[in-house]
Amino acid sequence: MNDILPEEAERWEGLEDALRSWLRGYGYRNIRTPILEQTGLFRRAIGEATDIVEKEMYSFVDELNGEQLTLRPEATASTVRAAIQHSLLYNGPQRYYYFGPMFRHERPQKGRYRQFHQVGAEALGFPGPDVDAEMLLMCARLWNDLGLEGLRLELNSLGSAEERANYRGALVDYLKLRHGELDKDALRRMHTNPLRVLDSKNPAMAEVIAGAPRMLEYLGAASRAHFEWVQRILKDSGIAYQINPRLVRGLDYYNLTVFEWVSDRLGAQGTVCAGGRYDGLFEQIGGRPQPACGWAMGVERLLTLLEENAVSPQAPDVYLVNQGEEAERLAFRVAESLRDYGFSVVHHCGGGSFKSQMKRADASGAAIAVILGDEEARALEASIKPLREAIEQIRVRLDALPEAVAEILYQEEGEV
Ligand code: ATP
Ligand code: MG
Repeated sequence: MNDILPEEAERWEGLEDALRSWLRGYGYRNIRTPILEQTGLFRRAIGEATDIVEKEMYSFVDELNGEQLTLRPEATASTVRAAIQHSLLYNGPQRYYYFGPMFRHERPQKGRYRQFHQVGAEALGFPGPDVDAEMLLMCARLWNDLGLEGLRLELNSLGSAEERANYRGALVDYLKLRHGELDKDALRRMHTNPLRVLDSKNPAMAEVIAGAPRMLEYLGAASRAHFEWVQRILKDSGIAYQINPRLVRGLDYYNLTVFEWVSDRLGAQGTVCAGGRYDGLFEQIGGRPQPACGWAMGVERLLTLLEENAVSPQAPDVYLVNQGEEAERLAFRVAESLRDYGFSVVHHCGGGSFKSQMKRADASGAAIAVILGDEEARALEASIKPLREAIEQIRVRLDALPEAVAEILYQEEGEV
């Protein structure tokens, strides 16, 4: 679990702003659920035989009332729980997004943390395949907006529950035949969650997996049509994709379309965004059935990819230097009047010599220093000293100060 220090947090804020306006551009509205839920919700929603439920959840008993609680490892279960609890689909389907920390007790390594952050979108009450395609198009737009290149779209269909059960049978038969070549994980999963064997990262398993029967061959006509429709829209929109028959996703609730956006620049932790349909989840956690589709993005991984596109640190417009009793009093009015105008102002607090205050002004990265000494204060004037340009210091009346600041700031921007 990491501290995100101010310098880094500025990059987070920049990305968050971009994400919010992008999500609004597709009609997604923000939903905020608690960080904690009852453990049973995640067990039911994600599935007992998954990595998350088997070994990654931070679960504990609330000593005050004996309740079993878990720090959320993901937010789809919580979003669906909230939709059921508050009858959010009463007036029809809804598009929601969330942003926030998730918790998984994993082995920490680059790109894998115990507290990490996801931005995610859930299209609730939509049977697709139109909304599935829209979600992929919107991701493609984000990569473009952020200037990210080389993200590969992998796609698969997991069919309906019934088709998946037929396939699971065929897969288990096949795995039994190759029993001697399976690793320990595969031997265990073969009985609990055989589809997850396909997701193994063990190179020794690659050959067995390559020879396994494919889910796509078990799709019925309706599932096949759904999958083809998604692909047709991708082709119409010029979005490249690869069908990956081994893409099964780690969570049990998926069906039909599943997808991942993968980068080769992140090593083994290359999946930046993952999602798919989960038409059975509402019913699975006690609601009326509702079709739905969603995805989640790992924000840390996104930021790592964006590292190369350096973001300049956020500096204030003005650093307000003030010295002497009258100037110190007047400084509050001056600072507020500049903020009224929309400027960001760091008001020097804590006194000190003129020279030391100017040093702080410079270090703050502010474009200009506004200087208020007792002499200026008595004359109801202030000095403006541009800090980044070789422009002469000027002295102006306080009522003309915001406009004078604006003139210098916009002049500087104009030159950039
Ligand atoms: P993996 O197979 O790599 O463990 P997952 O299937 O557990 O992935 P999801 O639950 O689908 O991952 O989460 C969606 C995205 O959230 C991932 O693609 C990744 O970008 C990010 N993510 C998941 N777990 C972590 C983590 N521990 N640290 C950082 N990011 C994570
Ligand atoms: Mg995982």
